[in-house]
Parts: sequence; C-alpha cells; structure tokens
Amino acid sequence: MLFEDLALSKSIQKAVHEEGYTNPTPIQEQAIPIVLSGRDLVGCAQTGTGKTAAFAIPIIHQLHRIVGSSKKAKKIRALIVTPTRELAVQIGQNFDTYAKYTNLTQLTIFGGVSQNAQVDTLKNGVDVLVATPGRLLDLQKQGFIDLDHLHVLVLDEADQMLDMGFINDVKKIVKLTPKNRQTLLFSATMPIAIRELAEMFLQDPATVTVSPVSSTAEKVEQRVYFVEKGEKRNLLHHLITQDNLSNVLVFSRTKHGADNIVKALRKKEIAAEAIHGDKSQNARQRVLDAFKNKEVGVLIATDIAARGIDIDQLPYVINFDLPNIPETYVHRIGRTGRAGNGGIAISFCSKDEHGYWKDIQKLIKVDVKTIADHPYPWHSGSPIAEATKPKNSNRSGGKKTNSRKSDNSKKNKKRWY
Ligand code: AMP
Repeated sequence: MLFEDLALSKSIQKAVHEEGYTNPTPIQEQAIPIVLSGRDLVGCAQTGTGKTAAFAIPIIHQLHRIVGSSKKAKKIRALIVTPTRELAVQIGQNFDTYAKYTNLTQLTIFGGVSQNAQVDTLKNGVDVLVATPGRLLDLQKQGFIDLDHLHVLVLDEADQMLDMGFINDVKKIVKLTPKNRQTLLFSATMPIAIRELAEMFLQDPATVTVSPVSSTAEKVEQRVYFVEKGEKRNLLHHLITQDNLSNVLVFSRTKHGADNIVKALRKKEIAAEAIHGDKSQNARQRVLDAFKNKEVGVLIATDIAARGIDIDQLPYVINFDLPNIPETYVHRIGRTGRAGNGGIAISFCSKDEHGYWKDIQKLIKVDVKTIADHPYPWHSGSPIAEATKPKNSNRSGGKKTNSRKSDNSKKNKKRWY
C-alpha cells in the first residue's frame, strides 16, 4: 500500500511525501482508515512502529476538513495525553510536520518548566494539544484549558502511564471531555488495568495489534565492534576490503559525517556515494539507481534520507554511528535480512556511544555477537563483558504477533466527522 492510496488531503500527502514516507507502516495501514471513520481504537503497538503518524495523520486530516481556513477562535479539538516530556515533544513535532501545509495549530505542554509561555499560547487558542497528565490537570484547574469542544482524545503509551502512577490523572482527564468524543488508546502491552481502562472509556473499539519493533531484530545476524572513534573509517575500509563486501548500506548520524565517509573511502578507491537531505531529489535518485545497479558498492545514508529509500533485503547494513534512539537501530537493521533472507547488521560503537549501545541492547534483548578480533579496538577499558551481556527477558515473551485487525467491525459509528 502507498500513502496515496489512503484518501488523505493533498496538504497532508505533500508533508508526508517530503518526510520521505512512501508506504504506511503496518500500524498506519490498519489504524488510519479506522481513525478516519470516527471509530474508537485500541492500538497495541510500541514506539518505533510509526504509531504517532498512525493517529496524527488521520486526526490532522479530519480537523483540517472541519476547521479549514476558518478565522474563528481556535478551540482544542484534539488532545493527546502521553506520560513523558520527551514523548510529548516528539508527538508535537510530528503534528507540526504533518500539519505544516494546513492552518492547524498545535501546542505541547509538560511540567518542570514555567507555565507562562504555555498559558499565552492557550489564550490565543490551539486546535491540537499534546500534554503530560500533571501539567494538563494543573492548567485546567487554573481555568486555561477548556476541553468541551474536544473531538478526539488519544491516550498514548497507556501502559507507561500506568507504571508511572498516572492512571488516576488519566481518569480525571477523560471525565473532563465530552462523551461523544472519539477515543484512541495506544499501549505496548495490554495488562488487565489497561483493558479495564479501555472498557471504561472506549465505545466498541476496533483493535489493531502490530509486532513489537524489537522483534525485527531477531531475524538479523548482528555484530558489534567496539572501536576507537577516530578509527571508524579505517575499520570500515578494513571490513569492506577484507570481506569483499558490496551492496552495503552505511548509516551516518549527520550529513557532514556521510560526506566525510565517502571522501575517505574514495581516497582508497572504493566506489561510495552519500544520500542525504542536502542533495536534490534528482541527485538522490541517481545515486540510488547506481547503488541498485551495483555500480556503487557502498551507500552512506542519514536516517532521514534512508526512510525514502525503497530498498531492503540488503546483505549488509553498517551502523557507522549508533543512533541515540534505540528504535532507529531496529529500523536501520530491518533493511537487511527481511522475508527470511540472511542479512548481517554491523555496528561500530565508540566509547562515547556506549550508553546508546546499552539502550539498544535493552530494547532488542538479543545477544549481539562482539567481534573483538580487529585492528582498531578501544585503547583502554573493555566494554565487552558488560556490554554484550544477554538480557533473558523479553517484553513480548519472544512471541511474534502478526499484524491483525479486529474483525469487530460491525458498528462504524460516525460521531463528530
Ligand atoms: P513512532 O513509532 O511514531 O515513534 O515512529 C518511529 C519513526 O518512524 C519516526 O522516526 C517516524 O518519523 C518514522 N516513520 C513513521 N512512519 C513512517 C513511514 N510510513 N515511513 C517511514 N518512516 C516512518
């Protein structure tokens, strides 16, 4: 399926296209039509599956239809409640991105900072409010937040809210919203308390479940090299020549870094090209074609640029830099070893990235093989024993749940659309 197949307004299609998304992720494919229909939804999915866009995009589509270019005072029509400031900021940014060609406005509020700027924006009126529970209730009590006109409520990361003791706050928040709202609840796991919450506040919800993003990692052979930061380029060259690697996708955190890797490899006569946001669409396409045709053996990409690349099942993916968001690691290595094909994901971890590696290990819960026998190890300290310790518990119980949609589709209530 393509994004174009989802009947979304042109302004949203344009923003999504600019992000480099071509295909909806499984949760998006399933959830977007449900949200567009106005039905309540329980989504069992974790961060990294594309769930933010799964609710943000259809909400923007519907609000854009309703609010259009109206000059009337803005009212809060969508509320997204999420447990942490970081998640709130990310969600707010997602809304800004996908709504940038509409005139919808968004505000993100969270505690631990002065409320003044938040209150000023609320006074001007916003269409979408993203909030952590404490600050939301606080500002509501002070009379700055009116949820009477709400169309859609999203409870994001519901199991985390439970863990963090926010469940009573969530219940209070739901009671402040109109009864005819649409409610979307997302949770990585579905403990009884979350099911009860869903029963209490959702009406005849559809259910969508997608595989945890971490399960992708189980299909790929992964290796890690603990390497001195300044020696990464040498190690890359060493691996490419020693093992005669070709058709390699290398991830760099920055555009500048990607260009430098290309320069270093070319100096050693390896055909490499970079693909990143500073290059024109035409230039990117040329590079990509050359890589697909195997004229270029090594492609260096940033995460953003790689999203738009319609290639997978590559034999090798190399994380030249480790991503600071663990889910990004899973997305990257998902480029290899798909559909039962063997693939190898290699990661370079310098000392300053050790924390990132630990976070990745925590997420994937896979015992990644450390390759200690190489010419550029850390000069001092041995990360190996601790960093590669396997984690034996698996949040998903090691089971892979296939994407499935509830067949509970008898009612398709349209309420506010
Ligand atoms: P989330 O699960 O919402 O945290 O999203 C994880 C990452 O996937 C974010 O970096 C999104 O920008 C990215 N993403 C979301 N939807 C898509 C898509 N359809 N294609 C490519 N990347 C996506």
